[in-house]
Amino acid sequence: MESGARAIVVVGGGLIGLSAAFHVRRADRRTRVTVLERAQVGDAASSASAAGVRVMGRDPAERAMALESLGRWPDLDRELEAKTGYRRSGGLRVALDEAGWAEARATVGAQRADGVPVELVDAAAAHRLAPGLSPECRGGVHCPIDGQAEAVATVRAWATAARRLGVRIEEGLGAEALVVEGARVVAVVRSDGARLPCDIALVAGGAWSAPLLAKVGVKLPLRGRGLQMLLTDAEPARLTPVVGCFGRPLSLKQLVDGAYLIGGGWPARVPDEAVNRWEVLDDSVRGSLEVARAVYPPLAARSVTRSWAGIEAFTPDDLPVLGPVLGLDGLLIAAGFSGHGFALVPTVGDVLARLALGLDPHLHLWRGLGAARLP
Ligand SMILES: Cc1cc2nc3c(=O)[nH]c(=O)nc-3n(C[C@H](O)[C@H](O)[C@H](O)COP(=O)(O)OP(=O)(O)OC[C@H]3O[C@@H](n4cnc5c(N)ncnc54)[C@H](O)[C@@H]3O)c2cc1C
Repeated sequence: MESGARAIVVVGGGLIGLSAAFHVRRADRRTRVTVLERAQVGDAASSASAAGVRVMGRDPAERAMALESLGRWPDLDRELEAKTGYRRSGGLRVALDEAGWAEARATVGAQRADGVPVELVDAAAAHRLAPGLSPECRGGVHCPIDGQAEAVATVRAWATAARRLGVRIEEGLGAEALVVEGARVVAVVRSDGARLPCDIALVAGGAWSAPLLAKVGVKLPLRGRGLQMLLTDAEPARLTPVVGCFGRPLSLKQLVDGAYLIGGGWPARVPDEAVNRWEVLDDSVRGSLEVARAVYPPLAARSVTRSWAGIEAFTPDDLPVLGPVLGLDGLLIAAGFSGHGFALVPTVGDVLARLALGLDPHLHLWRGLGAARLP
C-alpha cells in the first residue's frame, strides 16, 4: 500500500458499491478506491430493477433514508454528469376493494407524521391522476415526490461518474476472501489470487455477500430471491405515475418510449444462485399480467415483449443491513435491500463513504438498520 494513502476495496459493482465508491472519492481524492465486480457492473439486482424511486409505503425504519435520497434524485443527473432517466412522476397506490380501501386509509397518517407527503385520493381523483384505471378503483394514496428512473442507464451513470473521479473498477474479478489479522480486515483476496491490502473492505455483494462474510465468521441471515419483471410493447403516453395496488403485488409504469414495465415482487425460479442463474416462471408471468390488467385495463391490448429477473438479497425483516460489524474493524457491510434498494442508492452511498472516511455518518438516517439487530 502506498504510504499515507488510504485504500478502500469495495466488493460488488452493483449500484450500492458504485455509489459508495463515488462518494468516497468525491469526499476525499487521496483515498484509493477499487471496486471488484466478479461479472460486470450492475450484473445482478441493479440492472434488473424496476427502478422505482419511492418513499411511499416504506417501513418506518427506512423513511428518513428514503426521504433524504428522494431529495437527491432530481439533481442526480447533474451530480453524476450522466443520465439516469429519472422522472418525478408521482406514485399512486390504488384500492380495488373495501379491504384495500381500508388499508389505504389506515396507512396515510403515520407516513404523514414522518414527513412523507402522501395524500388519500378518492376514485375521481385517482382516475384524473391515472386515466384508464379500473372502474372498480375505490381511490388510493398518492405521493407526488415518488418517481422512476431507468435501471441500466442508472448503473451506467454511477459507474461513469465513479470512474471519472478515479475509482478503479475491475470487472470479471471477484473477491475470494477477506483477510483478517488481529480482529481487523486488512486485505481482500481477488479471484486471481492477488491480495489487495486495504484499510476498509466494503462488502456490497448483494445476495452473495453472506458466503463471503461467513468465511470470516460474520453470519448474515440473507436469502436470495428471484424477482421477475415484464415489459410490453409500446403505445402513446397515457400513464404518468408509478401505479401500485393495495393487497395485490404490482408496480406498473409507462416508460418514456411508451412500453409498460410490470413488476411487484413476482417470484422467478433460481436454479443456481451461486452463479446468478434465474428462470422466468410462467405462473408469475400469468399472475403478474392478470393483476396489472385488473388494475389498468388498457394493458389488455398490450403484449409482453420481454421478461427477466434479478436475484435480490432479503433479510428476515426486509430491511437492509448497513454499517460496521461489532468486533471486526476495517469492515463495512451494505446488503439485504430486500427489493427496495434502488431508490436509496444516493444516500446509502453517502453514508457508507462517511463511515469509511471517519466522517459524521448521519446515523439519524439509518438508525435501526445496523447488523446488530439481526439474529
Ligand atoms: C426485479 C427487481 C425489481 C426491483 N425494483 C425496485 C424498485 O422499483 N425500487 C427500488 O427501490 N428497488 C428495487 N429493487 C431492488 C434494487 O434494485 C436493489 O435493492 C439494488 O439494486 C441492490 O443493489 P446492490 O448493489 O446491493 O446489489 P446487486 O445489484 O445485486 O449488486 C451486487 C454485485 O456484487 C457482485 N458480487 C457478488 N459477490 C461478489 C464477489 N465475491 N466479488 C465481486 N463481486 C461480487 C455481483 O456480481 C453484483 O453485480 C428491485 C430489484 C429487483 C431484482
